[in-house]
Amino acid sequence: MQTETKNDMQIGIPRAMSYYNYFPFWYGFFEALGIKTVISDKTTKQTMSQGSALVVSETCLPIKVYVGHILNLLDKGVDKIFVPSIQSIDHKIYNCSKIRGLPDLIRNVVKRKFTIIDATLDKSAKNQGLYEFLKEAVAPFGITDEKKIKLASKEGWKVMNNFKIMLNSGMSFEKALSNAKKGQVVIANNQKSYPITVAVLAHSYNLYDDRVSMKIFDKLEKLDVKAYTSEQLSIEQLQEGISSIGSKLYWANEYEMTGGAGHYLQDNNIDGIITINAFGCGPDSIMIERISRAARKFNKPVLHLSIDEQTGEAGFITRIEAFTDMLFRKKRASIINKIDINENAQRYESGVRKESQHR
Ligand code: SF4
Repeated sequence: MQTETKNDMQIGIPRAMSYYNYFPFWYGFFEALGIKTVISDKTTKQTMSQGSALVVSETCLPIKVYVGHILNLLDKGVDKIFVPSIQSIDHKIYNCSKIRGLPDLIRNVVKRKFTIIDATLDKSAKNQGLYEFLKEAVAPFGITDEKKIKLASKEGWKVMNNFKIMLNSGMSFEKALSNAKKGQVVIANNQKSYPITVAVLAHSYNLYDDRVSMKIFDKLEKLDVKAYTSEQLSIEQLQEGISSIGSKLYWANEYEMTGGAGHYLQDNNIDGIITINAFGCGPDSIMIERISRAARKFNKPVLHLSIDEQTGEAGFITRIEAFTDMLFRKKRASIINKIDINENAQRYESGVRKESQHR
């Protein structure tokens, strides 16, 4: 077998789609095997427009963004790009067809010379579990030693688990990732109290890509609104959330949406829910409908934000401001009502007491 030179031992990873779920693992895994990970630059207007130009207009925004990131990696001179086909993440739990067919889509629309590393993860199929997936991912680098691959996988989990601990504690994605890559675990310690609390629910690639989500966390912070996501919930809470709104787990990214919604809709500390979904997303349209129905049942305000490459920031901000403003007014009214009810109750009680004393 031909020996790989130092430059060949690098893998391009698009900063899009599954990057936002699994990159900490891939980083730990590839680096442990001496494979340098090269990430595409942050999403810009150009990433979106270049990606959009290569696919049919009905394609959802995250896929257009993904294509843009592949082009960015090619412009950086990376010639091996990791485009996994993540079919099923657990028994009978599937990704949407676009995610499953990502390598084929990229092969068909990006007509430039490069190697697509298209490892397949399909936990619903026989012999296509994590080890087979990892084996496929490193075979183009001439790595076949089972022991080495398994040890590297452990390194991947170390980085991933540390990252998750920090994200769960409420730390930002970028900060948690940067700490995890350095092998550090720092717990976010935000003691500030907020008058309003919302849950922001979306697929990770819509939530943590600042360009796609238009920095929603920063905007909410400026409005004095505390934001939670599904990342702060345990797997048990997410599973309970899904069944509590009469849903059944089928889509791989259902935890992030209906799982979080089912939990937060019943959480009295959460004043409202904001969902972000890509225009034209099939799975999301089903999940959003379920969330809306459950929100009516639990009488909790919900704001649905739909995004595509035309979405303007001004309109996005206006809708968030109007929604949070309504939450402030609702909360103020409920506090005033409670005071009135308490005062009335006290007046009534003291009246009854006086009356009985006069009898
Ligand atoms: S789940 Fe929706 S947004 Fe995500 S890739 Fe599939 S169609 Fe696009």
